[in-house]
Amino acid sequence: MGKININIKSGSIERKKVAVGIDLGTTNSLVAYVEDGGNNSQIIPIRGRYTVPSIIHFNDDNLPIVGEWAKEHLSDTPERTVYSIKRLLGKSYSDLEGDSKKIGYRIIDEGEDQLVKVEIAGKFYNPIELSSLILKELKQQAEEYLNADIEQAVITVPAYFNDSQRQATRDAGKLAGLNILRIINEPTAASLAYGLGQEDGKTILVYDLGGGTFDVSLLIIEDGVFEVLSTAGDTNLGGDDLDNNIIEHWRQNCLKNENLSLKQIQNLRIKAEEAKKYLSQNKEEYSLSWEGVEIKLSFEKFKELSNEWIQKTLKLVDRAIKDASITINEIDEIILVGGSTRHPEIKKNLVEKFPGIHVNSEVNPDEVVALGAAIEADVITSKRTDVLLLDVTPLSLGIETAGGLMDFLIPRNSKVPTRLAREYTTSVDGQINMKIAVYQGERELIAQNRKLGEFILSDIPAMPAGLPKIQIQFALNTDGLLNVTAQELRSGVKQSIEIQPSYGLTDQEVENMLRAGLENAQSDVEERLLLEAKNEAEQLIYAAQRFLDKNSKFLNSEEIIATNQRIADLKSLIIVTDRHKIHQGIEALNEYTRPFAERVMDVAVKKALKGSNIN
Ligand code: ADP
Ligand code: MG
Repeated sequence: MGKININIKSGSIERKKVAVGIDLGTTNSLVAYVEDGGNNSQIIPIRGRYTVPSIIHFNDDNLPIVGEWAKEHLSDTPERTVYSIKRLLGKSYSDLEGDSKKIGYRIIDEGEDQLVKVEIAGKFYNPIELSSLILKELKQQAEEYLNADIEQAVITVPAYFNDSQRQATRDAGKLAGLNILRIINEPTAASLAYGLGQEDGKTILVYDLGGGTFDVSLLIIEDGVFEVLSTAGDTNLGGDDLDNNIIEHWRQNCLKNENLSLKQIQNLRIKAEEAKKYLSQNKEEYSLSWEGVEIKLSFEKFKELSNEWIQKTLKLVDRAIKDASITINEIDEIILVGGSTRHPEIKKNLVEKFPGIHVNSEVNPDEVVALGAAIEADVITSKRTDVLLLDVTPLSLGIETAGGLMDFLIPRNSKVPTRLAREYTTSVDGQINMKIAVYQGERELIAQNRKLGEFILSDIPAMPAGLPKIQIQFALNTDGLLNVTAQELRSGVKQSIEIQPSYGLTDQEVENMLRAGLENAQSDVEERLLLEAKNEAEQLIYAAQRFLDKNSKFLNSEEIIATNQRIADLKSLIIVTDRHKIHQGIEALNEYTRPFAERVMDVAVKKALKGSNIN
């Protein structure tokens, strides 16, 4: 293993450098690489095992131990043993809702909007530091195994991770001493591992059910290019939930509804997972003597406990298909990813749901994501051109425009990287500042979407309303990070921000935002039309008043009074909620004042013909 490179200039021996792919999972983490010049990626064993539990235990000296050895302490010292840290990445305490109650270690509330911290024996750690401990273990152990330096890595994240969570993942990598080449979506990585050597024009559905997250993606392969058609999922749905269902079943049926201590629950969780894995392979009853009580689970009961859980995933599969605007017949293949897809009922349900479509689990579902990430790392570092990767953004991005409306610049499921610019202008004469507020979400009103950040474009030269040309550009990079730039094109003044919100959305919120967008589509459009009518009315009132101020000399007093009356009428209509009435008011004011505008124009034209200037 390992080559020796000799630096001819210095005569020193250099270690080989390897770029790796890392699946930083909620439950298990893996690292893989592509051997020099090779085409196949392979998992790098860590302390003799392929998968490393994403668990960190702090011993009595507060030294961290990661992986299999840490897992053993889940039941004896849960307060010193951190698991599922990925669920806390990039989140604030208020994002967690009830989640923290299920966790054996202590999560610290330092205020609503602060990132969560974990307290272990009086010391505080944030989820980025804790995740970096897992990455450090992978890096060090893989370096030892390969006898090489690992400096560069591609890390995968669930498709639903928002900007904050992606940034936190990147930071964890940096903290572990890695240069992060790219953050890619797990289903995309998996399809990459499968995609090599596959025929062109294939539409693939990636079904990824892990320990804590579920992702479904539709991809198409064209000329060796992977294109993501749509993604859906739920980062609060995974094998853990089934374990919890089993624990609850035992508690109610075998343990007489006893209140269990945290330690007991942790211990039962290990047994529940054992039962689950057993029943995934054997259709016989699982039974065990636990603290003197017999606990058991039949295959039938196991199926029953899994049913709702599986159905939830199938609903999300339907959504992804709908979003991709394809029919079921167009799917050529289904790929199973994640340890939980070893549950036989999953494959069975998918085969039933998609008759005639091959449900593929040839590549080990635990390893496929890391294997794909390694291929991507290899592609980037060796400048291979035979594969290319496109991801999509899960939620729409836009800015606030007049009346609290959302103007969508990048619609959801857009391929990244992407860049889009649109021109805006001022609504008030002499306006020198413009607020650019950036939102994420599917609703027409910004109030119902999520604010990502805002900034002020200042020093716009004073000009009449409508004259400044303000270009707003959204650039979303391959990590899903958003750069927003505003520039007044006449003067060149420019301002920009990189959006890295200090904390993220709960996974449930992302779900809810998508669902709300679909459910409220009709009423949102009504509301939007009303707001647009109001905006139009306000602008017309403003313009009419300005016209009167400047040009009253061309109008007689009767005309001025009548115009003011129509302005007042329209003002009173803005308060009502009937957009048709507002449009009537707009029409009335427009109709009445049009001849005056023509009169002023005529005078101006005549003057111009005489060679004098207007005003
Ligand atoms: P993650 O991507 O969340 O890190 P993995 O893909 O490693 O997760 O999957 C871990 C999950 O897979 C756990 O919930 C584990 O219990 C489950 N799992 C592993 N093997 C089996 C099996 N044979 N049958 C059912 N579930 C399994
Ligand atoms: Mg996974």
